[in-house]
Amino acid sequence: MKRKLLTYTVAGTLVFGGITAGSMGVSAAGEGPNYNGNETINTSILHDHEELVSFLETQDAKQEQMELEVIGQSVKDRDIHLVKYISDPDNPTILYLTQQHGNESLTTEGALEFIKHLGTGKTKGILDNVNILIVPRLNVDGAVGDVNFSLEDYVGDGEYNLTRYNAEGVDLNRDHVDKIQPETKALHENVMQQYDIDYMIDLHHQGAQRERDGELVSGSILYPTTPNADPEVVEKSKQLGAVVFEEIDRTGWGHLGKYVGGSAETISRNGIAVEYGISTLLFEMRGMMDHTNDRYVLGQKSNGYLIKQTVNTLHATAEAISNGSIEDQDISFWDSLSEQEYR
Ligand SMILES: [Zn+2]
Repeated sequence: MKRKLLTYTVAGTLVFGGITAGSMGVSAAGEGPNYNGNETINTSILHDHEELVSFLETQDAKQEQMELEVIGQSVKDRDIHLVKYISDPDNPTILYLTQQHGNESLTTEGALEFIKHLGTGKTKGILDNVNILIVPRLNVDGAVGDVNFSLEDYVGDGEYNLTRYNAEGVDLNRDHVDKIQPETKALHENVMQQYDIDYMIDLHHQGAQRERDGELVSGSILYPTTPNADPEVVEKSKQLGAVVFEEIDRTGWGHLGKYVGGSAETISRNGIAVEYGISTLLFEMRGMMDHTNDRYVLGQKSNGYLIKQTVNTLHATAEAISNGSIEDQDISFWDSLSEQEYR
């Protein structure tokens, strides 16, 4: 049975909301209210599939430099999109990939915001010296809960539930060697193998209760950790991470830990680094939109910060590649960055 929030818990949050917000100060992204029965999760605030497509088509019509392409279809026949800004094929190229896991949505919301910025004066000049590829939502079926298994135990409320898996119940981020699922196949055949990509950030969401040095994190990062990755590729991945860490750390509200991850090459962070020699960075935002476990989801009050954390990450990395400053990054911070722990 699907667990529903009782009205009094929502009302209770409203009463305590002022106190909480005040005492949390600027650390909202790191210590914002989690779900745990304290706050409702309304999936309707997210772009569903039709809204996502409509957003992309509107931006495509407005933006001269933007190109929109359909790279394939999901198990349930939904289109998967690629947004391209290619000003010069000789420019370095970065790929931003979001929502391989359908219940990890704010990275997509942030990517859409970034796409909007690319069409305005906010990122003026960046596109002259970097090519940007964005796959905003790979798992288009899981993102709207249209899957061949039950989601009745998921805690999210709203018109639909969201799940990590694709419609067949497969974790797409374990399919980067075999590439069996249509979503992963589309990504590899029509993006990875078609462009000369230098950098990639793979954007995810992790559980809500992780901390670094005693403080809840707003996210975590990690470079390729398979021994088969070229050391130069790994070094450039660490530089990409340095740009992200510095950008988020200086906000005052962001607090990043080092993600604890394995060396399996079925995961894009490792597999794509080895197969294509692309410098990859995993970025895990805090708190998922939906899950069967309360401790993995985060209430909506942190949404603004987490979306902004995504926008800042995309903007800062695109800019650092565009102006070449990424190559001067000091990667020694990685040696002192503590791994995050479960609270
Ligand atoms: Zn994920």
